[in-house]
Amino acid sequence: MLFDRKREITVIPGDRIGPEVVAAALKVIEATGINIEADVQQAGASCFEKGIESGVPRETIESIERTKVVLKGPLETPIGYGNKSANVTLRTLFETFGNLRPVRELPGVHTPFTGRNLDIVIVRENVEDLYTGIEYMQTPGVAQALKVISRAGCEMIVELAFEFAVAARRQRVHCATKANIMKLTEGMLQHTFEEIAPRYPQIEAKHILIDNCAHQLAMRPEQFDVIVTTNMNGDILSDLTSGLTGGLGFAPSANIGNDAAIFEAVHGSAPDIAGKNVANPTAIILSAAMMLRHIGEGEAADDIEQAVLVTLESGIRSGDMAGTGKASSTTEFADAIISNLGKDSATRGTRDFRAVRIPESRTEVATVPVYRRIVTGVDVFIESTLSPAELGAAMTEVCEGTSITLHMIGNRGNVVFPAENTTVTLVDQYRCRFMKKARSDTLTNAEILALLTRIGEAHTWMHVEKLQQFDGEDAFSRTRK
Ligand code: NAD
Repeated sequence: MLFDRKREITVIPGDRIGPEVVAAALKVIEATGINIEADVQQAGASCFEKGIESGVPRETIESIERTKVVLKGPLETPIGYGNKSANVTLRTLFETFGNLRPVRELPGVHTPFTGRNLDIVIVRENVEDLYTGIEYMQTPGVAQALKVISRAGCEMIVELAFEFAVAARRQRVHCATKANIMKLTEGMLQHTFEEIAPRYPQIEAKHILIDNCAHQLAMRPEQFDVIVTTNMNGDILSDLTSGLTGGLGFAPSANIGNDAAIFEAVHGSAPDIAGKNVANPTAIILSAAMMLRHIGEGEAADDIEQAVLVTLESGIRSGDMAGTGKASSTTEFADAIISNLGKDSATRGTRDFRAVRIPESRTEVATVPVYRRIVTGVDVFIESTLSPAELGAAMTEVCEGTSITLHMIGNRGNVVFPAENTTVTLVDQYRCRFMKKARSDTLTNAEILALLTRIGEAHTWMHVEKLQQFDGEDAFSRTRK
């Protein structure tokens, strides 16, 4: 696409090797001759050190709001500054809900999988899951994190995976989850995937358990094409797939949202090699090609990808791949790519890409309608050093004369009361499950508050979770015996 005036993009050089590799990528973009203007902004370590708590200054945010496209180097959170990373700030501020991480066998990049023609894209949910960072110390010795998965979030990431597969003319999408254990959270992604897949009959859709997926990626990675998965699984799997094809120096990524898209290498700031002009710029250069495709500059993107392939085919090696052979510096490597612009790879043709339709985020509050809901019980988490039998007796007494009964007590997921499980290691966090005696009646807030008041008279409760039924289905996990 030709722009009459320059297309502005926000560029964040980032920390340590960031400025070195980003400068290389900008030089390559400029050499393609397209009409682009970089608005260079800061984020990361230097901003934390100036006292900007989020690591992202106002000017950077305003620039992204205007340009909607970012080429970003790796960012660090220096030790002792803030507890949120500038990367997470950017991802959440612009709700870049999908993270695309393509990897591909590259000429001259030798791995145990060379010759198997790997070409895999991980589509990782990017804002939910355990990465919402909602954590609590429930007792001084027991920590808990919330794994938040929403139906709206699942729909957006699954649609993005299928839309990407269609646009990039891919054959197959695997959905990788741990739905056998986390039936409600990971299961929500599986169910959403199974509901949405029939809308894309041209794409083969398969569910796979995440552990098997990791095993299969090590054994027969060539069976995979696109893999959609939850945030933490995607974080781990995408580093694994980077490793299959030559390592972090070659792994690009795109963080896709409705308001903005952020393109960056998967690797970090590599403090061990910073300032030496030895970092491999391929990952950020391939990220820049993804960015150009995103803004409609498909020809320039193809041109850069071909030039990277030609450079690798010609035997030029960056420091991380040279072994004992001669390594080119970051700038020499970028210059070689520039000198190869316009040449075609001997091993790979250009890709036939259409624009990816990005699923729209909702402006209204997302909700799933249910016709009948009741609260059948409540889980109360109690800090106690009593034995299960002692706590069981105390909680049974608390229920006397009420419409509630003690159903069970759990400890680290095991039922320890009324079961006689004496083999488990007990900690001072018990989960006491109370159920309404008449299962068809709803437990009221007043009954729950009265229960908590009675428990609080002699015990320390620190967390409460309502047990609901939606349209007759239990909306909570069963207890593990
Ligand atoms: P890292 O990716 O920076 O480095 C891991 C190893 O890979 C190092 O040996 C490094 O030298 C090597 N490496 C990385 N990129 C390379 C390249 N382009 N060329 C050659 N070798 C390369 O991971 P880390 O050491 O765990 O993290 C360092 C810092 O980066 C941390 O502060 C971390 O929080 C941050 N980080 C930022 C991002 C991001 O901004 N998206 C991602 C990951 C890590």
